[in-house]
Amino acid sequence: MKLQEFHARRLLAAAGLPVPPSSVAETPAQARAAAEEHLPAGGGKVVIKAQVLVGGRGKAGGVKLAGSPDEAEEVARAILGMEIKGITVRRVLVGPAAEIVREFYLGAALDRRARRILLMGSGEGGVDIEQVAAERPDAITYIHADPHLGLLPYQARRMVFEIGLREHWKQAAAIATGLVKVMRENDADLVEVNPLAIVRAADGTETVQCLDAKITLDDSALHRHPDLEQMRDPDEEDPVDREAREQDISYIRLDGTIGCMVNGAGLAMTTMDLIKRAGGEPANFLDIGGGARADKVAAAMRLILGDANVKAILVNIFGGIARGDEVARGIVEARKVQTRDVPMVVRIVGTNAAEAAEILRAGSFDTAASLDQAVEMAVAAASAAAA
Ligand code: GDP
Ligand code: MN
Repeated sequence: MKLQEFHARRLLAAAGLPVPPSSVAETPAQARAAAEEHLPAGGGKVVIKAQVLVGGRGKAGGVKLAGSPDEAEEVARAILGMEIKGITVRRVLVGPAAEIVREFYLGAALDRRARRILLMGSGEGGVDIEQVAAERPDAITYIHADPHLGLLPYQARRMVFEIGLREHWKQAAAIATGLVKVMRENDADLVEVNPLAIVRAADGTETVQCLDAKITLDDSALHRHPDLEQMRDPDEEDPVDREAREQDISYIRLDGTIGCMVNGAGLAMTTMDLIKRAGGEPANFLDIGGGARADKVAAAMRLILGDANVKAILVNIFGGIARGDEVARGIVEARKVQTRDVPMVVRIVGTNAAEAAEILRAGSFDTAASLDQAVEMAVAAASAAAA
């Protein structure tokens, strides 16, 4: 799960990292009020930033400065409602604009192969960091944190000296250590600050500040962080992923034509293997889990039918805790609200299989006696539909 910048900033600030103050506005009037609060007294500007879960907002025109409340309102009106990489901007962040002396990049990511957190830094931060990384890999410094102790003091110092923050090494090293700490404490996959900037205050003093923040959390660890779960932005979540998550269904879309509804991850994998062996291509991995009730079966059916590539559906249920008759009833219900006519083959064995067969017969469903037969029927139906 990706966090919006204003949420990510909160996590950095909570860990004691230097983040400039800011407010979130949903309307031009709110942006105006925020500008009144954040415009520096002795002159200066506010920065107004689109809050969307994609990078490159600056280049897309989603980051602008304004020198007065009037101008802030006008800029916010232009940014709110703007589309950046297909996402409509609903909120902006408003805060005092920093006077940037130099921009750096500092990020922590999970290096799965090394099974460690990898800290990455560069003296060429800012909006072109991807290009820098692609064209001149030498311009980026990499250091693996200790798996037990985090980033050690000498590692933090080496990083900030190498990327050119010698003069501000104490502050910068604390930020480097802090990023790794934020990563570990929140079970994040990525914590990135770009730009990390040397900022000049009105009195001429220089400090290092985190001017942007991107955090991606590990979905599998979210149950340990109910406070972070609240930061989820439903507006930007894929509706298919949302429905699957809300119904507690494991669903992964693939690019084949045979939609699969199966209970149990192992059985789902086996079903996909058998489809492939019979010359078909699975359209998805779908595990409705144990004890699947009728409404969950209907939700799974909606997910499968939502994929326009699906030409046939194979339901393969092994009744254990899930009762066959309950699943069969779910299938009958789902067919009633089915939006398009797709051939379906059902195989239900195990607990209450006889009752299930009765229900399916009454509903004139195609049933199969064996799994091999069910797979063959589904593959034949899909290729007939494609022809
Ligand atoms: P991104 O493009 O989505 O990564 O958004 P950023 O927050 O990184 O902003 C893009 C660029 O806008 C930065 O690299 C800065 O050059 C500039 N920028 C962001 N905040 C400020 C600020 O407070 N003052 C000034 N002068 N420029 C800023
Ligand atoms: Mn950035």
